[in-house]
Amino acid sequence: MKVGDEELRAALDAVRARADLAARRASDPVGVVHRYEDPLDRELVGLVAASVAFGNVKTILAKLGDLLDRVGPSPWRAADGDPAALKARLRGWKHRVFIGDDLARLLLGARAVQRAHGTLGQYFAALLQQHGDIRLALAAFCDAIRDVGKLRSRTRRGPAHLLPDPRGSSGVKRLLLYLRWMVRPADGIDLGLWPVEPSHLLMPVDTHIHKLSRNLGLTRQERLTWRATEEITASLARLDAGDPTKYDFSLCHMGMLQRCPSRRDSARCNGCGVMPVCRHWR
Ligand code: SF4
Repeated sequence: MKVGDEELRAALDAVRARADLAARRASDPVGVVHRYEDPLDRELVGLVAASVAFGNVKTILAKLGDLLDRVGPSPWRAADGDPAALKARLRGWKHRVFIGDDLARLLLGARAVQRAHGTLGQYFAALLQQHGDIRLALAAFCDAIRDVGKLRSRTRRGPAHLLPDPRGSSGVKRLLLYLRWMVRPADGIDLGLWPVEPSHLLMPVDTHIHKLSRNLGLTRQERLTWRATEEITASLARLDAGDPTKYDFSLCHMGMLQRCPSRRDSARCNGCGVMPVCRHWR
């Protein structure tokens, strides 16, 4: 039986209402962004935090803490100083395929764009107006940071992974997560910093959200691609066209998400908040 939009909305609203935002924020990379008061720092720290958000969350938080300690209390001021000094401070830092030099270049490139346009948010809003399309705007945004920061390598995968190209088929989850943090209204999790309507946002889709989305009938795409991201977002926009990514945080922090068996399993599905609208239980 196909799930109706009202039923889906009721289930997702219930998951959202039950989410303990304060507790969950502390265990999410976005919590690191909230430690900074200055919007210029928040933009830069958000970009760094989203860009390295690969793998185990405890490791990500530990690596981010170390990285930002090395950068100092004001990342935008640090990135305005001597580039060699910033690179020296980050030397020896490593997380998966990323090394300190990649992160220094990301910070230097993003700060240069910020300096030229006032804020990254103003630059992104101008790109969105110019291109009329979030994918093209995001691609141009990344190009600018990559070019100024010289964030490229022919021998290492780190730079390309750190700031991927949205023109490819990938769902670029971490970039879309960064946009969500910056654009969605301030609600204790997202920061509402950028002058962009949340209706433009796309769902940041990782393997868990992709699997869940298939279980809920939000997409039929078998592969996690840009197209799957668009389909999932379009399905959620039927529930709230003005704010299609509003369920993202609570779904990501649903206890079941990582253990979802994607089949009817009484023991493992027990307590899953979306069971009433899961295709395996209808
Ligand atoms: S009910 Fe079970 S299969 Fe369906 S989404 Fe929840 S955990 Fe996954």
